[in-house]
Amino acid sequence: MKGRKLLMIPGPVEFTPEVLRALGMPTTSHVAPAFVEVFGQALERMRRVFLCPSGQPFILSGSGTLAMDSAAANLVEPGDRVLVVNTGYFSDRFAAILERYGARVTRVAAPQVGDAPALESIEAALAAGSYKLATVTQVDTSTAVGFPQIAALAAMARGAGALLLVDGVCSVAGEELPMEDWGVDLALTASQKAIGVPPGLALLVAGPRAMEAFDRRRSPVGSYYADWSHWLPVMQAYEARKPSYFGTPPVNLIWALNVSLGQILEEGMEARFARHRSLASAFRTAIRALGLAQVPVREDLAAATLTAPCYPEGVGSSLLSHISSAGVIVAGGLHPQIKDRYFRVGHMGAVTPSDILTTVGAIEQGLSRAGYRFELGSGLAAVQRVLAA
Ligand code: PMP
Repeated sequence: MKGRKLLMIPGPVEFTPEVLRALGMPTTSHVAPAFVEVFGQALERMRRVFLCPSGQPFILSGSGTLAMDSAAANLVEPGDRVLVVNTGYFSDRFAAILERYGARVTRVAAPQVGDAPALESIEAALAAGSYKLATVTQVDTSTAVGFPQIAALAAMARGAGALLLVDGVCSVAGEELPMEDWGVDLALTASQKAIGVPPGLALLVAGPRAMEAFDRRRSPVGSYYADWSHWLPVMQAYEARKPSYFGTPPVNLIWALNVSLGQILEEGMEARFARHRSLASAFRTAIRALGLAQVPVREDLAAATLTAPCYPEGVGSSLLSHISSAGVIVAGGLHPQIKDRYFRVGHMGAVTPSDILTTVGAIEQGLSRAGYRFELGSGLAAVQRVLAA
């Protein structure tokens, strides 16, 4: 027996052996020449993975929430107006962080949970106020809703004189987000999702307009730790292959990040996005074949990085322990309004077709043990047909 289960939650995900080996290496000094080279390379690779050649990368010790906090702390000044395009739990979190730094936040809500606000309502909201920033969650991990029109939203924000910030915690390196081509001014993520590194890194790339807005600030940044005035010289120094210090960098995590970014670039961004799309589509086909509904109300809103299937009639959250007994760990619901009605399956990062097959097999076993009546094997057959095609 291998004595371990397959981890299929929407982060942390499963990591490659090469990435895990980097974490187990003897820790070097943060100013050792070999580490300076690795940090410098990781910063260069960030630009390529975020598809933002003119961007400024930041690699910080913290989780995705710190990446959001850092974006808000550095770009918001008290009284600034911000438009939050709201698709769920993590958009609410962004609004709360922005308000903490003194932003006056307006929310454009989706018509219902599982949906995204229409572009027309966002355009009307942008026209009605003078906004410094707009934010959107590319994939809301609480609902598996992906915002499908980031490029159009970026153009709209730019037309209205606002910067567009994308919470890409559940999307960067899994969903298409060519920052520079689409005109996104800042994108952020965390290490434990599609970037493929254990939890602990907050990752951001700020485009030129975002950096200009930071330079134009009149008031001091309200967070000592997150202040880019401390971190920018550190990032610039390491990229120039010179050691620098503000806070001790998480040496092994950065070593692992550089390995993972290398693997991502070796796969190629387009190939990586296509793999995520096709495995997600195979998984959703199985969920439909099993007769389960999903939280996103339309197929064009369904994320490539995770799926949120609804429990069938008569089945509740005990399904999760049945799936776990069959060897796969999936996650429960998160959105407060519908938490007990659905579960979540992450399929990002190093995920393979056989992970999808294993997961569908375990879900079938779980459903069967939970007393749901369906044709055993129908989900697996559906995946096989999509994968073979
Ligand atoms: N935004 C999104 C879309 C997320 O999925 C998450 C984490 N699930 C966060 C922000 C917060 O990240 P973290 O848990 O790493 O702080």
